[in-house]
Amino acid sequence: MLFCIRDDDTSFFTDPDELERAYGELSKWGPISLAVVPFHRAGTSKGVPEKFRGRWSVHPLHENRQLVDYLRGGVTDGRYEIMLHGYYHDEPDGRREFEDRDDLAHRVADGRKYLEDVLGCRIRVFVPPRNTIGREGLTAIAREGLHLGGAAGVRSGWPLLSPRTWALWFRLRRWRRQGGAGTPWVLDLEDHREIPGNAVTPLSTVAQNEAILRSAIAVDGVFCAATHYWELGVPSRHPGDPLVGEQLRRLIDLARSSPRTTWQSVGDVVSSAMRVSRTSAPCAV
Ligand SMILES: [Zn+2]
Repeated sequence: MLFCIRDDDTSFFTDPDELERAYGELSKWGPISLAVVPFHRAGTSKGVPEKFRGRWSVHPLHENRQLVDYLRGGVTDGRYEIMLHGYYHDEPDGRREFEDRDDLAHRVADGRKYLEDVLGCRIRVFVPPRNTIGREGLTAIAREGLHLGGAAGVRSGWPLLSPRTWALWFRLRRWRRQGGAGTPWVLDLEDHREIPGNAVTPLSTVAQNEAILRSAIAVDGVFCAATHYWELGVPSRHPGDPLVGEQLRRLIDLARSSPRTTWQSVGDVVSSAMRVSRTSAPCAV
């Protein structure tokens, strides 16, 4: 079973001390894949400090020199992987950035090149802001040779005329009808792959995430925990469940307790994992 951790919203606004508090220790055990915003617009995201919210000013990552140095060091040490997380992240028109816009190809290509130049790394994965993407966004990432952190699905851009779309759809439906938890595979859409994230937030539950992780271990699949460094100290909304950071820690402990687990970066998992496709279906689906 391949295990990975995705953390969204690193940007100009991130204090490297926050990342170090969140992942300094954990990243010695396995890599953390950070979804980074190249030019964060100070809108409504909780990753934007309150005093900046609603100003709509644009903040390039390289203007936070301390953070850039910290990330470059983490990449060099193999503790962090960098993924692309939108371009501006927040938009004043109220629509989600990668939902439906006519310049997404430019945003993906330019954002990717910028992050690769500033941080000295290679980007393999795109994570859409607020987990929302559409057909044009998928086309844009495929053109750049990137994979998707998340699962788009039929309603959010899988090509309706592709046999692969419906082969996947039927296989996943059968999995769920058999009582399968989550989606413990990488999904192969031919021009890109998708790796579903399992949210670790105040709204998630330990029981549900542990059930999905156990099923991923049982089918020798994949499990990607998706969280935010700025939320790890927040209590769960579910009585009896621990802080978000403690939820993440419990999932890590469970994953590491299985001798069948390999902890890799999201980019490595999505590039190498056994995947659901027309020609290579995992045995349990
Ligand atoms: Zn985000």
